[in-house]
Amino acid sequence: MADTLEIIDLRSDTVTKPSLEMRSAMASAEVGDDVYSDDPTVNSLEERVAELFGKEAALFTPSGSLANQLSIRSLVSPGEELICETNSHIARAELGAAATFSGITTRTWLAERGLLKASQVLDLAKPDSGPYLVSTTAIAIENTHNFGGGSIQPIEEIALLSRQAKELGLFLHLDGARIWNAHIASGISLLEYGKYFETISVCLSKGLGAPVGSLMISNKERISSSRVWRKRYGAGMRQVGILAAAGHYALDHNISRLADDHIKAKKLAQVCANAAPSTINPDFVETNIVGLDLSQANVSALEFASSAKQKGLLVSALGKSYLRLVTHMDITDEANERAGAILQELLERAFVLK
Ligand SMILES: *Cc1c(COP(=O)(O)O)cnc(C)c1O
Repeated sequence: MADTLEIIDLRSDTVTKPSLEMRSAMASAEVGDDVYSDDPTVNSLEERVAELFGKEAALFTPSGSLANQLSIRSLVSPGEELICETNSHIARAELGAAATFSGITTRTWLAERGLLKASQVLDLAKPDSGPYLVSTTAIAIENTHNFGGGSIQPIEEIALLSRQAKELGLFLHLDGARIWNAHIASGISLLEYGKYFETISVCLSKGLGAPVGSLMISNKERISSSRVWRKRYGAGMRQVGILAAAGHYALDHNISRLADDHIKAKKLAQVCANAAPSTINPDFVETNIVGLDLSQANVSALEFASSAKQKGLLVSALGKSYLRLVTHMDITDEANERAGAILQELLERAFVLK
């Protein structure tokens, strides 16, 4: 079956391929040398995205990890501390970059589904600790929370944290790789999200479907020093308007359609819950990520992923018993249904002896 039907790739929303229209926008982009700030397409994208979040300036980067790293290094000095959630991308998936490049130490709090509770974070924060303990300088919040299953952070908790952090002199960073998904699912504006954070990172290369590209967003001063650090890291790019044009196209066409991805994820979650109720509560699937708990199954996540692959479905085994499915614009309704049927069959088999 897998030889004749196309492979369904639910490993991540980063696997999307640029559409013909996007490629055509890229091919006709006006470009210049961006290290000289001469690329009009990059400049207009930076201005556009800064404005979307109500900020002064933005900086185009090749990856979201770099946008995160430039952001946190602009907030936290060497030897100081950033606190973030245990399963956040900054803590787990950036390979120790904050320590390696910026001398930043991290402490983490663990939250069910990654969901923010301001009081939990403030209990951990220790600003101005004096000569004995590490001083906390900044807090990073991930929205939506990737390894938390695409969960949307409660806006009241963000607002509360922001208010109290300000009183303590602590900075807030938003890892907004999928803030677009949070915006579409919650109806909360990007401007509103922008209000609470000193620095923000966003990805164009996830659900928005661009091949490459992220931005760091902040005030003029931090962006201008981050421009220097970007070059120092070797990520000063030249006629990169070719990529920025994909970003413009993505912002023009691909934000509101994220709602379709959310519907597809919900459908998959319902199929999985019907086949094996302990794997997921579909009510928790708010955006485009479905995290399956296979701890009650008779196979590991890796074995499950390998059986799925044999049937033409790619999924991510992210833990011993944690499987992640991510819906995106390259998944048709038909492919989503076929994915559901494969998952149902494999789950029924994986829970048959329990
Ligand atoms: C994907 C992602 C990033 C950035 O990833 P890159 O692969 O470096 O672009 C950052 N944060 C979260 C939560 C992500 O999911």
